[in-house]
Parts: sequence; C-alpha cells; structure tokens
Amino acid sequence: MSKYDLPKMQKKLVKYLDEDRYEHTLGVMYMCAALAMAHGYDLNAAQTAGLLHDCAKCIPNKKKIKLCEQYHVELTDFEKEHPFLIHAKLGAYIAKTKYDIQDPDILSAITWHTTGRPDMSLLDKIVYIADYIEPLRDKAPDLETIRRIAFRDLDECMYVILRNTLEYLEENPKDVDNASKEAFVFYKNLYLTRRNEL
Ligand code: FE
Ligand code: FE
Repeated sequence: MSKYDLPKMQKKLVKYLDEDRYEHTLGVMYMCAALAMAHGYDLNAAQTAGLLHDCAKCIPNKKKIKLCEQYHVELTDFEKEHPFLIHAKLGAYIAKTKYDIQDPDILSAITWHTTGRPDMSLLDKIVYIADYIEPLRDKAPDLETIRRIAFRDLDECMYVILRNTLEYLEENPKDVDNASKEAFVFYKNLYLTRRNEL
C-alpha cells in the first residue's frame, strides 16, 4: 500500500476549508488513527481518509452541483434536493483527481461518510464513526457512551449512531435518505442477531 504524504495534503487542504471545518478535519484524522489502532487498520490510509473526508464541504451548494455536472459525478434527485449530502460523493472525486488517491477503500469511506450504508467496510466504519465522535463534537446525545463503544465494537457503534441520527431526523422523515435507512436496518439486525447468540 502506498504511503500518502499527510503534511503535504494538509497544506493544500487548508486553503479549501474554513477554520472550523479544518479543525474538525484534524480531529477526524486523529480519531481515524486511534480507531485504526484499536481495530487493526493501516494508520496512514485511515488518516488520509479522515483528512480528506470533508474536502468538498466548503464549496457553495450551487457550485457543488455545477462541478458534479462538469465532472460527470452522477447525483440523485434526493441529493439535488439535499445538497449538503453532495460533498461526500464530490469529495471522493476530488480526493481521486486532485489529491491522487487511488485506494478504493479510502474513496469508498469518503463517499459513504455522511449517510452510511449496509455492510460497510472496516474503513467506511472508522471514518463514519470518527466523524461523529471527534473531540470537537458536542451536540449529539450519548456521546460519552458512543465514544466508549467505538473502541470496543464498530458494528454496535454504527447501530447506536444510526438509531440516534434517524430519531433526530424523524421530525422530517422525507429528509432521511435511503442509504441511512438501509444502513440502520442492517446494523440493527446485526446487533440483535449477535445479542441473541450470546
Ligand atoms: Fe462530511
Ligand atoms: Fe465531517
């Protein structure tokens, strides 16, 4: 596996993010390293995915849609109606073309970091969870518990985060995208099955 030059990528990335987003990004990068240590994943690859996960976040929404058209990144109608989702897919494209990331696992983790999906790869889960629990996050409920679970069981952690996220979005069910719903059903079943086997 190729080693990615993190400081070099940071120097470039800092120009494309506002200060808060950059601080968040560093938090996610270090959380990715910590979770990779706990669960056995390549540290450099995990940090690269964390560093670049929000690389498209600070592009204005209209420009995001324009860039996707220009780069032939296909968007669903749902994504066009909820443009904050677009930074995931567009971010993977930018990581590939502007930061020369060829590792499909890293590109997948960036693509799925906002919604999750059923049966995520180890790195998909690391980035999704790191994004949720990095130290600057303080609004989500049960963070203390979730942070502890993250170091013990990534699948259970996915279940708890998705459950909380869907509960939070429940007031506007039409704003919940299918990938998140499917991911929730998947991790709920996985959790219940494992618990019954104990
Ligand atoms: Fe994001
Ligand atoms: Fe993020």
